[in-house]
Amino acid sequence: MAKRDTERRFEKRLQYTIDDYGGIDFGELERGHLQIYFLVKGTQDYRITVKFENFVPLLKSDRFIYRRDVQMKGISYSHVIKICLQEVVDTFDVKVACECPDFHYRFAYIATQQNIKVTEPEHRPPDITNPERVGYVCKHLFMILSKPSKWIPRISPMIKKATLGLGIVDRDDVYTRE
Ligand SMILES: [Zn+2]
Repeated sequence: MAKRDTERRFEKRLQYTIDDYGGIDFGELERGHLQIYFLVKGTQDYRITVKFENFVPLLKSDRFIYRRDVQMKGISYSHVIKICLQEVVDTFDVKVACECPDFHYRFAYIATQQNIKVTEPEHRPPDITNPERVGYVCKHLFMILSKPSKWIPRISPMIKKATLGLGIVDRDDVYTRE
């Protein structure tokens, strides 16, 4: 029962909305990158930015889509998007940022040093707040990155709509029988 309660609390903390921020950055998408915004709601709201560079080339790679033989196997474009998302999350090839003080004061410098900070670099070392320089993501980012199943189903349709709408992916090439 205790475990279940803990899980429930974890689930509750995971309630973030993304629609408020549009979810994905169209400009970045046109440049080939997938930049997602999340909003973590709590006593205070924080915006999280997660960027997967060169996501579009992965999406359009021969491994996945637009090949008739692949389509014949019934792999839909939506499914391909989900596979790609899971893959970039698994490989942790990601750049991140969170608006919370914890990230700002304790982890931003380390994230900058490791070249995974998505927004402006932080060059002031956390000598007082994180003298051992341990970790590089706050609890919000950890939640997002460790629970992709929570947001991949919501983000995928946005990516589909945006890539088709912006002409990043040719509608004629996409398997439509979904
Ligand atoms: Zn945070």
